[in-house]
Order: sequence, then structure tokens, then C-alpha cells
Amino acid sequence: MNEQKCFGLDAVSGAPTEIRFNQFLSGVDVLIEAPPLDTWFAPGFIDVQVNGFAGVDYCSPNTAQEEIARSVHVIFSTGVTRFFPTVITGSVADMAGAIRNLARAKAALPLEGRAMEGFHIEGPHISPDDGPRGAHPRHCVRAPDTGELKRWVDLAEGHIKLITIAPEWPGTVAYIEAARREGIVISIGHTNATGAQISDAVRAGATMSTHLGNGAHAVLQRHPNYIWEQLAEDRLTASFIVDGIHLPASFLKVGLRAKGIERSVLVTDAVMPAGCAPGRYRLGEVEVELHADQRVTLVGEDRLAGSSLRMDRGVENLMRMVGLSLAEAVTMATRNPARVCRVSSRQRGLAPGDRADLVEFTFDAETKSIGVERVFLDGERVYQREG
Ligand SMILES: [Zn+2]
Repeated sequence: MNEQKCFGLDAVSGAPTEIRFNQFLSGVDVLIEAPPLDTWFAPGFIDVQVNGFAGVDYCSPNTAQEEIARSVHVIFSTGVTRFFPTVITGSVADMAGAIRNLARAKAALPLEGRAMEGFHIEGPHISPDDGPRGAHPRHCVRAPDTGELKRWVDLAEGHIKLITIAPEWPGTVAYIEAARREGIVISIGHTNATGAQISDAVRAGATMSTHLGNGAHAVLQRHPNYIWEQLAEDRLTASFIVDGIHLPASFLKVGLRAKGIERSVLVTDAVMPAGCAPGRYRLGEVEVELHADQRVTLVGEDRLAGSSLRMDRGVENLMRMVGLSLAEAVTMATRNPARVCRVSSRQRGLAPGDRADLVEFTFDAETKSIGVERVFLDGERVYQREG
């Protein structure tokens, strides 16, 4: 591959920057002249929680590879270069089938498979209670099982990178230790745990909280409770769904201050109807509805069943809802998920030696609007805005 060159403003430093790259970034120079156009660069966004997109469900064992490939190209158009397809709570057979299906797609799709950085398994070892269970089917919730973990690891050909678990289950500490030995990051979520159970999980190696503030009881003891405990635990990085629906601005502001930007991660938690027309869709065992206001709920209920968020809108929302700078919002979508979820060679930002995953965009500082123009994955252009 010949060396390529881009010139624009670095979204994190704000400086006019020339970037040279092949598969990896080979040179990053701050120049004195202003860039010719309103052209900004950031590392490609990383979304560690994507259940489906553009009408394609990653949780189904039967989703065709061509469909997965098509959805990945829609994801590229949102500025994302790496994401974790996410399998939620299901039967033993369905979860194994979905993991096998994703592993085959990753192996068979040379370009799109590289964007599927690793798999996130959210459940089934979560709270069975209404509230913390969220939209996960109760009859499939079960205790941690290191035997099932071993089978997942084999089926996934080593690509499971993240597991969300509720640490109140007996056997959690041994399970976390077993997962850590496989190089899997453990996140706490959909939980009703006590402070002591959260501390034990952190000591065993849990490093993250999944969509903190969601997957929780509608009414909660004021203190102590599992949200305060996780906010106060500095060894946990937290992910947040910033669609303007899952969390009010006040919680988000307080959550980001408690964790600090450096321990905060933007996720979409997008589900299959994301990017589709409003209407009813089948998600495994449940029927969901995408409403005109972009909420995704179980049919006939207020309960949210994932989101229709896309990462570029999430970055905008962080600026609009909480007043973050572009640099802070981009960091929550790039370097922070790379660090906590161990996405290799993506941890430093626009720096020589990191993978040449780039998003080029226009930015309106007044309206906090981002327009994705071009996206590169390993130095290869995978998206260009038309017209
Ligand atoms: Zn969830």
C-alpha cells in the first residue's frame, strides 16, 4: 500500500495536522498553516455494544454473512471503524449459535470482519429481577457457568473480548478469574448487587460498568445502592448510552464528573431496527417497536429494548447535553473504549504506530454538528460521503 496523506484539524488537539499512513499511522505532524477547508480528523470511533444495525440482528444464529457485511458498511458511515457485535441473554443453544455465526462471519469477511474487533456477551448471568434485567428474557437468565464460558471461547475462536455479568451470583469470583485468564474484559451490568459484591468482583478483575444508570430498578433505595457503588469505584470505567432517551442530562453530567472523562465510554447499545423506518421488528424471542421519536421499546410497554443511536450522533449529544468539548466527546468514543476493552494499537489516538483507523468530518461549533466525510480502516477507505 502506498503512503497516503491527509491534512486537517486534529479533533483532540485542535491543531492543523498532517497525517501520513499506510496500514498504520507513519507520521503525524503539526503544521503552522491553516487547513484549506473545514476538515477535522479523529481516530475511527469504537463502539463496544452493538446488538444489531440497519435491520440486521447480530444475536440471531441465522443472520446471513452478506447481511452482516451490509450492516457493517452502514456502521462505517457513522464514523465507526471497530465495534463489538453484542449477543444478549438467550438459550444455551441460541447464544452458542449466534457466537458461532459471528465467528464465521468475522473469518469469512476480509474487510468487514476486521471491523468486528471482538464480541461482547451481555448476559445471561444477570439479575432475574424486573428492572435490572431490562428487556432480557427472564427464563434464559442463569448462574455463571465456566463450562459454558469455555464453549463460547472455542466457538468464538478466541474473539470474545467483553462479558457483562451481575456479580451477585454465587460463583462470580471464580467465573471472573476464569474469563480474565482468557483475556476477556469483565463488565458489571444488569445487576442488583450489594457494595460488597461489587468490590469482590472488582478485586477479581472486573474493570467496567455496562450502560451505567440503565438496566436498573425504576425505584431504588436512595443509599446505598448499586449505582452509587459503581460511580464511587474508581477502578471501574463506565459506559453510557447518550441518545437523549436512556439518561437525563443531569444524571449524565453527574456520572461523567464522578467517573472523570478518562473513565467514561460512549456506547450506542444499538439494536437491529437502528437506522430503519419506525415500525415493529422481531428481536429473537421478543417483538420491539421503533417509535418516531427514535425510542426502541418492547411492544405494548414503555420498557426500552436497546437504542437506535449511532456513534456520530452520540458524540454530538455529549457536547449538546453535557457541554463536553469536541476533544472530550471524541476521546470517549475512541481512546477510552480502546483502553478499557484492550483494542490493540488504538490506545494513543492520532499517533505514529497506531492502526490507520481515521474518520474525517466537518464540525459546526455553533450547532455541535458533525458530518462524516470519509472513513479509513487500516488505511483503506471504507466510506466516502456522496455529492
Ligand atoms: Zn443492556
